[in-house]
Amino acid sequence: MPSLIRSFPHHSHGSAPGTIVDVDPSKLKSARSSNRNSADYSIRSFRSHKSSHRSSQDSLGPPQPGSLNIQIESPPIVCYGAPNDSAGALLSGMLWLTVDLWEAEFDSLKLTFQSVTSTKKPVVVGCPDCTSKTTDLQSWDFLTSPYPFSHGMHNYPFSYLVPGNLPASTNSQVATIKYQLLARATTSAGETLQFTQEVKVSRSLLDRTDRNSLRVFPPTNLAATLTLPPVIHRGGTFPVEMRLEGVVTRPNMTRWRLRKATWRLEERSRMVSVSCKHHGHKLGGEGKGVQYEDTKVLAQEELKSGWKTDYSSADGKIEFEFHPGIPAYVTSTDDVDNGAGLSVSHSLVLELIVAEEYCPRNSKMVTPTGSARVLRMQFNMPTSARSGMGISWEDECPPRYDDVPVSPPTYQTLVADVDSQSISSSDSI
Ligand SMILES: [Zn+2]
Repeated sequence: MPSLIRSFPHHSHGSAPGTIVDVDPSKLKSARSSNRNSADYSIRSFRSHKSSHRSSQDSLGPPQPGSLNIQIESPPIVCYGAPNDSAGALLSGMLWLTVDLWEAEFDSLKLTFQSVTSTKKPVVVGCPDCTSKTTDLQSWDFLTSPYPFSHGMHNYPFSYLVPGNLPASTNSQVATIKYQLLARATTSAGETLQFTQEVKVSRSLLDRTDRNSLRVFPPTNLAATLTLPPVIHRGGTFPVEMRLEGVVTRPNMTRWRLRKATWRLEERSRMVSVSCKHHGHKLGGEGKGVQYEDTKVLAQEELKSGWKTDYSSADGKIEFEFHPGIPAYVTSTDDVDNGAGLSVSHSLVLELIVAEEYCPRNSKMVTPTGSARVLRMQFNMPTSARSGMGISWEDECPPRYDDVPVSPPTYQTLVADVDSQSISSSDSI
């Protein structure tokens, strides 16, 4: 992670303060070069070069030679498993070019699958290069030399294995990650057709083994053991089991009573906003970025009962099961880390308020000693899309040669004498 250098009072645009951090120069370079190669840039430069002399005609709106459309045929893109061991997901579909004219000559027809990472707190507000970074992940050049297309629809199938380590589509408080298919065609007359289709990429973690966590609270003998699900999902609740041990201290004749339990689910978003080539001086030089962080409470609950207290065993125990969850109506995003400063993570914060009591042996007199403690615990809660009935593409069994059944029955050769058949049928009547 980039190291923090100093607090950065970013008042110029009225946005929240960030922190200037060092940015890996290799990542910065790739961000710039990809930005320069991005489709947006090339469209802009194309337009400024080719259509500057006919801008008066453009304003009149000449008839378009045709249109583009994309039809996605694959199921929703879900990468199963952690980024480093996910097999990815298959994206396939059809690009349609509809030619409205009787005939139109096209110079190029290209489809690109790209990722767009945008910060909601750019170094310079309104600068597109400071705000977004577009990376081409895959492109298909369906046409590279002039070709005359006849009136009608022309289709081009495409398929792509979406890499398993791709960060999921994200819309966090400070940044977004989007994926899109961008189709672009240029006619020999210099007109451009364009069509964009957003593709949602999600991740589903398939880990099903519960986690056990132990927390101790010195100088007391209290120890909390929690059983947590390995991964949680938006909407619905999940069970958390807690056992608090070391509740009774026999020599002192004291014990702890659980008074109140509070849980809270937090979403933490982070983004390092990097300046573009022209605005590097805003941060005092090259290789700097502003780190923004935002913590949002997704859900919380305060409980004053619901646990079982047992003081009869050697050191006593309190057992408690509760059901936290991220309500479906709360805007939240799944865990993500793009390795370049954008990350979203979740945590469950549990606070227990325990009060000490004095209870002498063989006496029913219980007196609070006035001592109380807040036992605070925090657990990382990986959040992902639900796996549903989905199976990773590599776990699906493709048909093998052995699976192909024997050929269908061939047509029977019927040699029939029409006259004799008509006679036999008339006989039966
Ligand atoms: Zn800029």
